[in-house]
Amino acid sequence: MIKDTATIIEKLKRMHGDPRCELEFSNPLELTIATILSAQCTDERVNRVTKNLFKKYRTMDDYLTVPIEELQEDIKPTGFYKNKAKIIKNVVSEIKDRFSGKLPEDIDTLATIKGIGRKSANMIIGCAYHKPAVIVDTHFSRVSNRIGITELKDPQKIEDDIKRKVPQNHWLDLSLLLILHGRYVCKAKKPECSKCELKEDCNFFVKGVR
Ligand code: SF4
Repeated sequence: MIKDTATIIEKLKRMHGDPRCELEFSNPLELTIATILSAQCTDERVNRVTKNLFKKYRTMDDYLTVPIEELQEDIKPTGFYKNKAKIIKNVVSEIKDRFSGKLPEDIDTLATIKGIGRKSANMIIGCAYHKPAVIVDTHFSRVSNRIGITELKDPQKIEDDIKRKVPQNHWLDLSLLLILHGRYVCKAKKPECSKCELKEDCNFFVKGVR
């Protein structure tokens, strides 16, 4: 098991470049909308949709006043568009009503908004507000288990475990890099271990998976 997260981050940077969120956005509201749209959809497709969406919808009121059918049509290529349109309207409405139109800047409060889960809340706080955050998505869960920095499976437990074990200033970089690594190298079905700099210390690799 690799215990030193600074080394893990350094090796992951060599493979994937600087830590980054692949969703494109220019403010916290846009990232919030993009994270809702990214459920069951690739970031690439979300970015294609939001390129036009964010030109048309610039304020919270734009999302609240548009007929839901029109919003559905505008986000249709991301899939599950009826549900996503409903979530977007609910989330924006709650931000307006409960927080006077200002997105909360802490994870626990943000995650109380119906439609924003822990993963999205961490993503928004980390990437839009540049605060420490542990973003546990399916890639983070799989890779962190494989390299042995946690043995837990439940996303909330993984988040708590990582927060206990890893220095706070590494949380965000580690999250973004593990997500990139899971997406492009340490894939679910066929991890590309031959090109992976973590293999010498990877539990999954050492147990015989090539
Ligand atoms: S060695 Fe293989 S299983 Fe381990 S982190 Fe790298 S790609 Fe994933």
